This record gives sequence, structure tokens and C-alpha cells, in this order.
Amino acid sequence: MNRRTWAEPFKIKMVEPLRMMSPQERERAARAAGYNTFLLKSEEVYIDLLTDSGTSAMSDRQWAGLMLGDEAYAGSANYYHLEEAVRGHYGYKHLIPTHQGRGAEHLLSRMLIKPGDVVPGNMYFTTTRAHQELAGARFVDVICDEAHDPLDESPFKGNVDVTKLRALIDRVGAKKIPYLCLQCCVNMAGGQPISLENIRATSELCHAHGIRVMLDATRAVENAYFIQQREPGCSRRSIRDILLETCSYTDGCTNSAKKDCLVNIGGFLCVNDDELAEEARNLVVLFEGLHTYGGLAGRDMEAMAIGIGESVQQDHIRARIGQVEYLGDLLHRAGVPIIRPVGGHGVFIDAARFLPHVPRDQFPAQALAAALYVDSGVRAMERGGVSAGRNPDTGQNIFPALELVRLTIPRRVYTQAHMDVTAESVISLFKEPERVVGLRFTSEPKYLRFFQARFEPVEGEGVLRSVARAASGVGV
Ligand SMILES: *Cc1c(COP(=O)(O)O)cnc(C)c1O
Repeated sequence: MNRRTWAEPFKIKMVEPLRMMSPQERERAARAAGYNTFLLKSEEVYIDLLTDSGTSAMSDRQWAGLMLGDEAYAGSANYYHLEEAVRGHYGYKHLIPTHQGRGAEHLLSRMLIKPGDVVPGNMYFTTTRAHQELAGARFVDVICDEAHDPLDESPFKGNVDVTKLRALIDRVGAKKIPYLCLQCCVNMAGGQPISLENIRATSELCHAHGIRVMLDATRAVENAYFIQQREPGCSRRSIRDILLETCSYTDGCTNSAKKDCLVNIGGFLCVNDDELAEEARNLVVLFEGLHTYGGLAGRDMEAMAIGIGESVQQDHIRARIGQVEYLGDLLHRAGVPIIRPVGGHGVFIDAARFLPHVPRDQFPAQALAAALYVDSGVRAMERGGVSAGRNPDTGQNIFPALELVRLTIPRRVYTQAHMDVTAESVISLFKEPERVVGLRFTSEPKYLRFFQARFEPVEGEGVLRSVARAASGVGV
């Protein structure tokens, strides 16, 4: 990829120094963290690619906006500014702010779901599905089969399989389906986009059966960029225009502003229906705060309003996704097995193919994430067997088709040189994979075990062989 096409469209006004430890110090830190990157202290990390959620750098204008915070309990000026930004970019009629995305998911699920209902979606997201289930619904995945194949190069692997959706409606009946949850740049599929054509077809089918379509708009701006780049007839359209059209086919949205909207905290629910909006305003007071702040400070809403405007700027989004593609390209060209095509918010490494000598019950993705940290201080996240947990009936480990390490790129935070360091470290491990040692549990929490589980290497002193020897004073 031509480096000039995506060079950062900003310069750096304030810096946050990073600590650079030696590999031996990192091996000790990894051991103390039970070889789980979630348990590392942030100050022990050099390049933090754990998540893109709430980790964006705000602009000078957003920081200036914080000073314009109107912290009135009711009717804050920042709320009206945010309402204008959301209407102008997402196009929905009613805005209900929430503290983050799951706050909006909670309200939506509570309003629309009855026990025994079915909610289809193009792959699940953890908090979204949890709130649907908490309200008594069952989630059914209707994403296209291509999404499950890491090597399939289709441009829109986030698409709904309309045939699967039609079959589901025939099977359970439209009355049991309160809404379809449509996700943009599908997170668990590797940030894979959905096409405008598919959004149109999906919502036509739903609306013909009286089923609402609710957008998970968390990465709708990044999705709009892929539509602009890949969908026939869209190359001359603006991101803002494509975003408005995306939302126009749906009846409302939930949004985690911690992603596209370039803020560290925030979210919102939008609906077009007046009665539903009224109900949401009644509920938000109970769970988040008054309907003109929804759990946010006035200054947070101001930063979000400004961030929304910045998020659709062409040079921003091109650099954002260009940086992710740049890292993916470096790895792909070196032969590293990654999910293709590269998605919007990160690069997903196929750890099972990367470490063929580590059996699945020694958690190759967990081991690779730990080894990467020891090698270079880059913090990634496991998305494989550890995240999948155990089958509640049999107690056996679930080994999902994809055993992945996710390198998630925060927005506007790291430079091209940081991407180069990351790629060099991954590639050096890829050249000597047998240096990486498998892991076994030393402590395993019952729920969402990936957050707090602890491990030890199945043999030897550490997760990365030569470093472990040096750390324990044996050899070099
Ligand atoms: C992050 C995320 C959410 C939840 O938002 P929070 O702000 O973390 O509560 C929902 N859906 C998707 C696709 C997400 O990535």
C-alpha cells in the first residue's frame, strides 16, 4: 500500500510518554498477570492494541468543547448541540443519550422484547446479546456464511443472509420477532462491513412483515467508508451522505460513541417512532439519568457532538482505515495468517495456523497474545477458546472455528512507526513459532472467564522460550 495515501491528517500537540521495559521485565510482568493481557497494568504496556473502545484521541476542538460544558441538570445546551449533530449525521428523529452503548441496548431490549421472542442479527455482540437474553429473547444469527471463513475475500462479509432470515420468519412467525438487530462493520467477524444493497433488502423484508430494524450504529461511519470504496456507484458520494442513507432504512439505532464518535465515554439510543421515544424517555430517567443528559456530563455531550462532525471527514476516515489496512498488509505480505479482507477496526491473526504446534487445549491465541507482549510490549486480545468458555451442559471447553488474536487500533493515537514495530514483532514470532509455549489454567472464573483467568506455561520458565531463560539468569 502507498504510505502517502493514508498519512496521518493531524499533527501532535501534546504527548503522553510511554514506558519501554526490557523483554525480561515484561516476562515478569506477564507472569504476574497470569499471562492474561487483560490483567496487565496499562503502564506496563508499550503499544496498547487491546481495544478501540473509548481509547480514541480527542482533537483540540473537542478538548476546547469540554470547557463549554453546560452542567445544568435539565436542558443543557450541549444536549441540543448533540441532538443537532445526531440528526444531521444519522438522521433519526429522537435522541436519548446514554452513558455508553450497552445503556442504549438495555433500554431498547426492555421496551421491545417479550419473554419467548426471537431477535435475529448479523452475528452477535457480547453486550447486545446479553441484554436481549436478559429481556427474555433468544438471539439467532442470520449472517452470511462467508463471515465464518477467514480466507474468503468477499467485500461485504457482514451481510445478512436474506434466505436464512426469510426461513426464520417462516419458522417462528413475525409476531415473535420484535426487531432485527443490524450491525455495521461486524465486530466479532473481524470488522467486516455490510453493503447498502443488503441493508435495503434486509429492511424491505423485515418491514413487509411488520418487523422493526434497529441498527447497531457503533461502527456505521467506518462501514460507510467501505461502502464508498467497494459498492458500485458509491465512489463519489460523501461519508455523511452514505451514513444518512444507511440509517434511513432503519427505525432507530443504538450506538456506542466510544468507537466511531471519537470520545472516551458516551452512547445513545435513537428512534423515529414518537410513542417509543416517549417510553424511552421515561425509562432513561430510571436507569441512566434525565433524558437531556442520560448519564453523561454536559461536557461529554459537547465532545461527542464535535467528534461526530469530525468522524465523517474523508481525510480522517481514510487515514483511520488506511492505518488498519497498512498493518494488515505488512502481516499479509510476510505470510502471517490473518482474517481477510482486513476489517475496519483491527487485524485478526489466525493463531491456530500461526502456532500449529500448540494444541487447542493449550490456547494458542492466549499464548500468542502473551508472547507478543513479552517480545515487544504490544498488548493484543484473545478471541478464541478462552473467550468462548465451556459448554454449560457438558462442562467441556468450547473450541470455536476461529482461534484469533485481535490487534485493535485506537483512533488517532498511534503512528505509522508504531504499526511497523507491531508488525516486526508479529513477523519475528511467526518466523520462529516454536519459541511460543502453550498455556494451561491456574485459575478459571465461572463467567466471562477471559477477563480474569490466570495461566502458566505448560513447560519451562515462560511463554517465550529464549526470553524466559534470560529472565531466570540461565543462558542468554
Ligand atoms: C462496543 C460495542 C457495543 C457496546 O457498547 P459499550 O459502549 O461498550 O457499552 C455494542 N455493539 C458493538 C458492535 C460494539 O462494538
